[in-house]
Amino acid sequence: MKSDDFRGRRIVVVEDEPHILDLIRTTLENAGFVVSGATTGLEGLERIREELPDLAILDVNLPDLSGFEVLRQIRQAHGVPCIMLTVQDDEDARVRGLELGADDYIGKPFGHRELVSRIKAVLRRAEAPAPLARNRVQVDERLVVDFDRRLAEVEGEPVHLRPTEYRLLHHFMNHPGRLLSHENLLSRVWGSEYRDDTQLLRLYVNYLRKKLEPDPSRPRYIINERGLGYRFMDYSPESGD
Ligand code: CA
Repeated sequence: MKSDDFRGRRIVVVEDEPHILDLIRTTLENAGFVVSGATTGLEGLERIREELPDLAILDVNLPDLSGFEVLRQIRQAHGVPCIMLTVQDDEDARVRGLELGADDYIGKPFGHRELVSRIKAVLRRAEAPAPLARNRVQVDERLVVDFDRRLAEVEGEPVHLRPTEYRLLHHFMNHPGRLLSHENLLSRVWGSEYRDDTQLLRLYVNYLRKKLEPDPSRPRYIINERGLGYRFMDYSPESGD
């Protein structure tokens, strides 16, 4: 697949301010996307249900439902990739959106090129084939990762991993004991556009630690190397059954 060939992909944009909606529409249409707009949360939900687009862009502040509520309802129903539009530097909104399953966020105001490159990065991740891996890998006596089923088993209990958590864990586990720089992790797991977004990486490392570590405040699997990056525990990969 040509990595940039996303022409014709369908995008639903939910934004109540008409001039911003027009601006986004023009930018995306110029980039070859097919755009359909909605100005309320309910209208947006209806469009997304009817059209099942390749991606949705949701403003956080809408007149009826909030963008978070729209996102929550989309996530209950299907896996349409979503980008949230937040007020610039609103860290709470970013964290909340990511926790609800948003694929990315863009702070207002944003440039045309940033918008298009973020959309392409999300589409690239959404459409990338799952990486090849052994089926079940035993890390230690309490952690087994089943790469076929995208499940971790912690002390025998299944723990569901979201797609980005899975990709990050997969990259870590393919490099046991090796120091991986922030830039390496961000560009390999998220895409080169993200190589400086250490806040995003820290969030996802924390999600994984909460799911996998016996004591997330004293991690044994994902070790922080201050100012440099992270190192996954040096285990010897052996396939389980
Ligand atoms: Ca708004």
